[in-house]
Amino acid sequence: RRAAFAQLRGEVPVTSDGHRITVMINAGLRDDLAALDLTGADGIGLFRTEFQFLVSATLPQREAQRRLYKDVLEAAGDRPVTFRTVDIGGDKALPYLNHDEDGEEENPAMGWRALRLALDRDGLMKAQARALIEAGAGRTLNIMFPMVSEPWEFDAARELFEAQRAWLAARGKKMPTEIRYGAMLEVPALAEVLDILLPKIDFLSIGTNDLTQFLFAADRAHPKLALRYDWLSPSILRFLKRVVDQARTAGVPVAVCGEMGGRPLEAMALIGLGIDRLSITPAAVGPIKAMVRSLDRAALIDAMQTWLAEPGRSLREPLTAWAVEHSI
Ligand code: PEP
Ligand code: MG
Repeated sequence: RRAAFAQLRGEVPVTSDGHRITVMINAGLRDDLAALDLTGADGIGLFRTEFQFLVSATLPQREAQRRLYKDVLEAAGDRPVTFRTVDIGGDKALPYLNHDEDGEEENPAMGWRALRLALDRDGLMKAQARALIEAGAGRTLNIMFPMVSEPWEFDAARELFEAQRAWLAARGKKMPTEIRYGAMLEVPALAEVLDILLPKIDFLSIGTNDLTQFLFAADRAHPKLALRYDWLSPSILRFLKRVVDQARTAGVPVAVCGEMGGRPLEAMALIGLGIDRLSITPAAVGPIKAMVRSLDRAALIDAMQTWLAEPGRSLREPLTAWAVEHSI
């Protein structure tokens, strides 16, 4: 099995009816970079920059950040990389940062984390913005913001980056050829204001780990809930379908970067909703490429529409039967 997937390293993920699916990896540390060549992935769709902060005993200095980002871009070569600004706080607390100045948080996942913390303590994000912009000199830099809940938060984060860009440019630093800004969709409220958000952003990336946690009000790490709610439930799939359709109409590219995209049946469902960009754990790239290459996408899109119109408890059953019938 492993050998078969290793052989897929040089194969392009194209569906049997000729639709190219972009398959990228999620990464966060230098050690993950080797996976790019090992898997033959199309790039890094989610670089979790907080990992450097989490494994460090003290706050990583701007120069250490810049060096990491530069190494990531060099390893990727012409393949695209999307850096996510720090998603710390909540359950990813840093010992050297005073998170709970107002006391312990009762619900850290819904607490002062990610962009919320970064906008309040903007010194941290300013340093990160400079490190990213300097590392991206001479190429396209893709930046995305985690846990955007309202469009103004995206505006504020983008403005912060643009101010750092101007600051560095005024000092004669070499600039990225382009900076593209995206938002993560992880907080359901953002989906209700997509018409306002979409014209502002260059891309959208759906974080299905947090998104499903918030849609179902079910802790993503709770062992008793792990099997209770299904990624293939009609509520999630209908939600995603609305988002994908709206983004397509606005001409904004959408990717999924949560774990859901790394599971073959779930990834198949996502492609059936019209998603054609996945960023997944490196070990899943082979299996997902194999699934994609045997998939009749147009037929699946039709079938999904029928199932979603009158769904049972989960689409797992019809999707499994369809996959068996179409020998996927
Ligand atoms: C997500 O929430 O789906 C996601 C990709 O981000 P993380 O898992 O790092 O919270
Ligand atoms: Mg998340």
